[in-house]
Amino acid sequence: MNTTHPGPTAPPNQPASGRRLIVLSGPSGVGKSTVVSHLRKTRPEVWHSVSVTTRYPRPGEIDGVHYRFVDDATFDKLVEAGELLEWAKFAGHRYGTPRQPVLDRLASGAPTLLEIDLQGARQVRSAMREALQVFLAPPNWEELVRRLTRRATEPPEVIDRRLAAARVELAAESEFDVTLVNTSVEDVARELLELMGLS
Ligand code: 5GP
Repeated sequence: MNTTHPGPTAPPNQPASGRRLIVLSGPSGVGKSTVVSHLRKTRPEVWHSVSVTTRYPRPGEIDGVHYRFVDDATFDKLVEAGELLEWAKFAGHRYGTPRQPVLDRLASGAPTLLEIDLQGARQVRSAMREALQVFLAPPNWEELVRRLTRRATEPPEVIDRRLAAARVELAAESEFDVTLVNTSVEDVARELLELMGLS
């Protein structure tokens, strides 16, 4: 069963549910992108930001759907032009959220979901106080190791770097407004919809 609990940093006087901007964060491998894929299929009205990244596509990933895959020079230009709402280096590659689509979407009043790492979540926390910060946690550490190591598409040194990052990210749970434990994709998706006021 999933648990949600308000964290110590919940913005004052704002209910956890019905928030327009949701930041979904948590360790690599915990299942954030699986939850987003599930929502994309089942609830197309939930818009999620497509990030830019300098990493290579994994099998099955589509440019413009899962990420916008760019080279280093293009990423540099986006940073210099101030076109990213936040960006971070993760496991040797850069990832960022294009600013304008998020602002346009929020201006229309529609629910918006950002799936980003801990460093990005911190940047959004200071830039956009209205965001509800949701931490997706694994049921336990062993489960997270299992999920990360079964991603056979990545070499051992990449998995090691992701496990090291995951240890740091797990320790940051208390910074978040709400924790959802990923025991089932459907349950997490349902709880996110509740938080957006869309259940
Ligand atoms: P992956 O390579 O597994 O798709 O993603 C690695 C990490 O980068 C994940 O924790 C994912 O949530 C995060 N990530 C994806 N897009 C963004 C982004 O736009 N900004 C930041 N800061 N992190 C991102």
